[in-house]
Amino acid sequence: MSVSRIRYDWDSSEIGAIYNTPLLELIYQAASVHRQYHDSTKIQVCKLISIKTGACPEDCSYCAQSSRYKTAVKPEALLEKETVLNIAQKAKESGISRVCMGAAWREVRDNSQFDQVLEMVKEVTALGLEVCCTLGMLTESQAKRLEDAGLYAYNHNLDTSAEYYNTIITTRTYGDRLHTIDNVRSTNVTVCSGGILGLGETVGDRVSMLHTLATLQPHPESVPINILSQVPGTPLENQPDVPIWDVVRAIATARILMPASDVRLSAGRARLSQVEQALCFMAGANSIFSSDDGHMLTVTTPCPGYNADQEMLNLLGLEMRPPKTRDKLAPQAVIN
Ligand code: SAM
Ligand code: SF4
Repeated sequence: MSVSRIRYDWDSSEIGAIYNTPLLELIYQAASVHRQYHDSTKIQVCKLISIKTGACPEDCSYCAQSSRYKTAVKPEALLEKETVLNIAQKAKESGISRVCMGAAWREVRDNSQFDQVLEMVKEVTALGLEVCCTLGMLTESQAKRLEDAGLYAYNHNLDTSAEYYNTIITTRTYGDRLHTIDNVRSTNVTVCSGGILGLGETVGDRVSMLHTLATLQPHPESVPINILSQVPGTPLENQPDVPIWDVVRAIATARILMPASDVRLSAGRARLSQVEQALCFMAGANSIFSSDDGHMLTVTTPCPGYNADQEMLNLLGLEMRPPKTRDKLAPQAVIN
């Protein structure tokens, strides 16, 4: 097989054809592309820390942290820097190479809380970890301040297609989302952006979202594929489970479209068996989130633990990869 070149000119019909390729053939193609751009024996394990939990003014209909829904999440103030550093240090000792700090904010404000987050970014980066933040909407100057603090990545998910977006969220637009991603791109901070499967979207919506991501130039360096965790109290609490085959198709398609990116099997992994997770890795997922407290971001989203994940990786012959640094980042070369 010749080396697949990185493309930014994907057409929706091509993406639909890839998504609908006979399943085993699709996995084979994705596994082949994966091996051209990545060491298939390595997986990145990440740890999410909710640095500010709950009471979010946004109405994202999947989210346990929106103040509009009655969920099991109890709002908490911004964590102390020492608390964050302790969690990050423990994660590092378990072989984790990336820490993602999430805040239930609509947008970043230029205030003392942001100053504290910048301090956290500096100090967790100094531990030798890749640091990602997900803090809501961001201006260009705020993105620059995060860059100056050493931030490695900024997460801002598109979640679903432009067409389906306002069925899920009405308090901001798809354009707002893309604008923040542009602001991050104006710096050297890498972009992390993906979506959620199981919001009631059609295959066409999945194709459309993947089209938006795969025609960003450069591609997001990191593409999380979340499976909806149905949170009691949210409008999506009764959504049916997404079939594993849809998860595998979405991962394989993302891998083929954005070959150099990290594709992360993110929320919802706790309900997958080891065999199902192995299929996702075969289809090109090369990262997971792990947690020592049993949940991913809040108590409502379960997450497998460090020890269980280490056992699974040993079983599958996978090793945790070390952190990258922004200055050593390979550009997305276009290979013909
Ligand atoms: N407030 C910030 C924002 O929305 O960008 C950051 C925090 S938010 C919790 C980060 C991401 O987690 C969301 O974009 C969504 O993709 C994912 N997420 C949140 N709740 C989820 C759920 N119940 N199931 C699956 N994914 C979820
Ligand atoms: Fe707020 Fe983010 Fe949850 Fe939406 S996903 S309600 S913006 S915390």
